Amino acid sequence: MKYNIGDTLHGFVVEQRRHVKEVGGDLYILRHTHSGAMLCYVDNDDRNKTYSITFATPSHDSTGVFHILEHSVLCGSQKYPVDDPFVELMKSSLYTFLNAMTFPDKTMYPVSSMNDKDLMNLMSVYTDAVFRPLIYDNENAFRQEGWHIERDENGKPYYQGVVYNEMKGALGDPEETLYQAVFNESYEPCQYTTVSGGHPDHIVKLTYEDFIANHKKYYHPSNARFYLYGKMEIDEKLRFLDEEYLSKVEPQEAIEEPKITVKKQEKPFYCTYTADGEKKNEDYIAFTYPICEMPAFTTYLGLSVLTDILADTNYDPLKKRILDKGLAVECECEMIEDIAYPLFTIKLRHCDASRLDEIEREVTACLEECAAGLDREAVRAKLSTTEFSLREGSAAGLTKGLYYNIQIADTWLYGYEPWRYLEYEESLATLKEIMEKGYFEDLIRVFLLWNQNRNIVVMTPTATEKKYAEPDENAAVTANDRGASDRDEKKDACIPHLNIDDIEKKAVPFLTEVKGKEAPFLYHPLKTDGIVYADLFFDIGQASDDELFDVSILTSLLGNIATSDTDGKTLQTKLGLYTGSLSMSGSVSSYDSRVISSAVLRFKALADNYAQAASLAEEILTKTVFDDQKAICDLIDQMVTELQLGFINNSSQIAAIRAAATHNTRDAILDKTGGIRFYQRIKALKEKLVSEPESFTALKARLEAAYDKFIRNGKAVFSLACDEESYEKIKDTPLPMRGILTDTISQAHSALLSGNIALCAPCDIVFNGYSFNADSDLSGGALLLAKKILSLEYLWQKIRVENGAYGCGTIPNSAKRLDMWSYRDPQVGITLNTFRHAGEFLSKLQLSDRALEDYIISVVRSLDNPQLPRATAYLSSVYYLLGRDNAAIQRERDELLSSTLGELHTIGDKLNKYADDAAFCTVGSAENIEAHKDLYDAILKL
Ligand SMILES: [Zn+2]
Repeated sequence: MKYNIGDTLHGFVVEQRRHVKEVGGDLYILRHTHSGAMLCYVDNDDRNKTYSITFATPSHDSTGVFHILEHSVLCGSQKYPVDDPFVELMKSSLYTFLNAMTFPDKTMYPVSSMNDKDLMNLMSVYTDAVFRPLIYDNENAFRQEGWHIERDENGKPYYQGVVYNEMKGALGDPEETLYQAVFNESYEPCQYTTVSGGHPDHIVKLTYEDFIANHKKYYHPSNARFYLYGKMEIDEKLRFLDEEYLSKVEPQEAIEEPKITVKKQEKPFYCTYTADGEKKNEDYIAFTYPICEMPAFTTYLGLSVLTDILADTNYDPLKKRILDKGLAVECECEMIEDIAYPLFTIKLRHCDASRLDEIEREVTACLEECAAGLDREAVRAKLSTTEFSLREGSAAGLTKGLYYNIQIADTWLYGYEPWRYLEYEESLATLKEIMEKGYFEDLIRVFLLWNQNRNIVVMTPTATEKKYAEPDENAAVTANDRGASDRDEKKDACIPHLNIDDIEKKAVPFLTEVKGKEAPFLYHPLKTDGIVYADLFFDIGQASDDELFDVSILTSLLGNIATSDTDGKTLQTKLGLYTGSLSMSGSVSSYDSRVISSAVLRFKALADNYAQAASLAEEILTKTVFDDQKAICDLIDQMVTELQLGFINNSSQIAAIRAAATHNTRDAILDKTGGIRFYQRIKALKEKLVSEPESFTALKARLEAAYDKFIRNGKAVFSLACDEESYEKIKDTPLPMRGILTDTISQAHSALLSGNIALCAPCDIVFNGYSFNADSDLSGGALLLAKKILSLEYLWQKIRVENGAYGCGTIPNSAKRLDMWSYRDPQVGITLNTFRHAGEFLSKLQLSDRALEDYIISVVRSLDNPQLPRATAYLSSVYYLLGRDNAAIQRERDELLSSTLGELHTIGDKLNKYADDAAFCTVGSAENIEAHKDLYDAILKL
């Protein structure tokens, strides 16, 4: 499209136009003259198109009204009067992104798709959902998604609701509590000082009338900002919006985002978080530095780089100082950015609050030293890493269109140019120039040392459990009756559908080649824009349990401690200069009866820097030394705290893995290398290193032995992904670890775990995992379909709609297995029982041909979802090593496309047969777990 300023089309007038090199196209701002709605269109060649609607919804209390609205409007609309249009789209669309998000100041409804017809369908369902939801006709969606009252088996009333439970889970996370306190202490009351997602005690005070009134006021076209991105026919989209919605409303005032005023506290602010008992040295301290309203992009980018300069790795000056003085286990700097008035924060995790004065002195002294002159080479390295990620240009899980959408909303919503935070090239060039003149030192002085509005927040653990309000004994049950209603397939049919003919029958082939004469390696030709992605898979399939544990520790150490040639700090600087990142992690996969287990070193570099990057990788893999006790113990401490936070935040996968570990080698290894068993061992190791520091000698010997056996003298498969042009540049560079390279990995062995266990963690909800021990009996394309149907039909209805868990599903891998999970779930017994009866549901399933076809399309969508090149390369290597070739993938797709209801019934019958010896695991609320203690063979504590 080439439009000029002033052009009018379908009631819209073009107000601004700008070529933005960074997004590869033109950006247009249009205004709908009648309604006042705004629209931003990014016109470029991306086939992965995005559409979104954003409303300014500055949160004004903690009832979570905008969060509940976000959930509820997706429960049916005038044109699409079905129970769950959102779920229907998950079934039948080829979306590449589909969700909705509530921020403290805005609510966003984005969808993406590669398929034109599909995008139009998604656009139609989402637009109707936000403007004409069925929430006006009855209270059901509000009750189900917000809150209602039920009675338990003893007749005791309790609160229930999806957002209610979601927020119980969110507020159990100490980091979340800290953020809330940081906002509350940094600003005068405003959208950021409320619990915008909703505080459980306030959620239950929200009335249906208020809920409706907020929809009327905020979800109005005059307050809407539309976004269209990618290669598309724009005319039909504008006409659709104008004719169907925008020209039909009475215009009203758009909502203005309130101005933010910062506040200064005279004294540190103290607050608490819930822990499971008295804890020492588990306090949190945050120093907060409000920056200014909407800083210039160079300042904004500079401050982001500064967070890395000060405290990215254990060698960066601020973090190093805190660790060296033993003041905290972890120290992080962060720019809290996606708000109108960004904050720079310094956060200390697991420290001793009684040493606050000393901590404050050390932080200030360190910032003063840094302001007097930073290590220039280190600064160049951090800037180079930032440049790398800007050029790579994507965020995990987001399509490019959505990634830009969020950046645009961050400025546009506050009246600033929408491209303000997109155009990074100029700022980057400026930063490179002015850093040499002491720019980062200036930032430290101006925004940190001289900041008059700095505040301190101190958070300490308390064993007193946070109790949320309970309903009055006589409270009337406000039942949520959506659960009871039968699905009406006729109604569902009004959601626009794709047909099986709209989808690709051929699987996208993997293009792996084996190259190399003396030393073999895998090459994946992919479009990578000049970046080289390299993975080295070290075979640990034969490791004993002790060795698995030691190698898992190694994966966190290598690259983060010194080698015999280079000290730790210099190594970090070199990695920053020559790589986009270098890290190591475990990888376990299975297919048919084949299981492979490896420790993978992964790095990415520009083709021009590849030779240096490869030689650094080789140095780390052959010359790491393990004698720095302090550095190693610090890293082990950090691993433990990180795992603990993970258990509270999200342990659905961990629970499912622990359940499956009782009958599946892959999961047994996963549990031992990163799950509950690993956590127990590393926590014990950490405690031993504290009580008996001399035990380090033994640890060191073990780490050296594992390093020698599995890394330096092990067997490894090397994989390389890049475009042809980059390959030409690097093809003569020697391969790292060429002496031990092979093109195959051994079959892994490991003892299975036994028993159903629970792990109590300090949170108010649970995460359940469940695994049918039916591995040898399940296979084929129909199994993929069964997993999808169980997720979207059975589990969604029973666990989310009827029982209020925020999330649930099956684990959608292609292996011959069936594992299920629930997330932020208020139930143990009901959920486990639901899992157990999955087979019954499947064996009695009745579906129309249309519905079956929808589900097939939905599985194809998940299989074909575009991946970033790095993920494609990794998956290609794993499939190669598993022996899962293109023919096998195509066979599975063919089976899937021709799946029948009969095959689903057979899978159901098989699951029924195995229902009695399925395994399960629960992580979370001790109260919930204790109430079902007879179910478990062992109950562990965090
Ligand atoms: Zn939510």
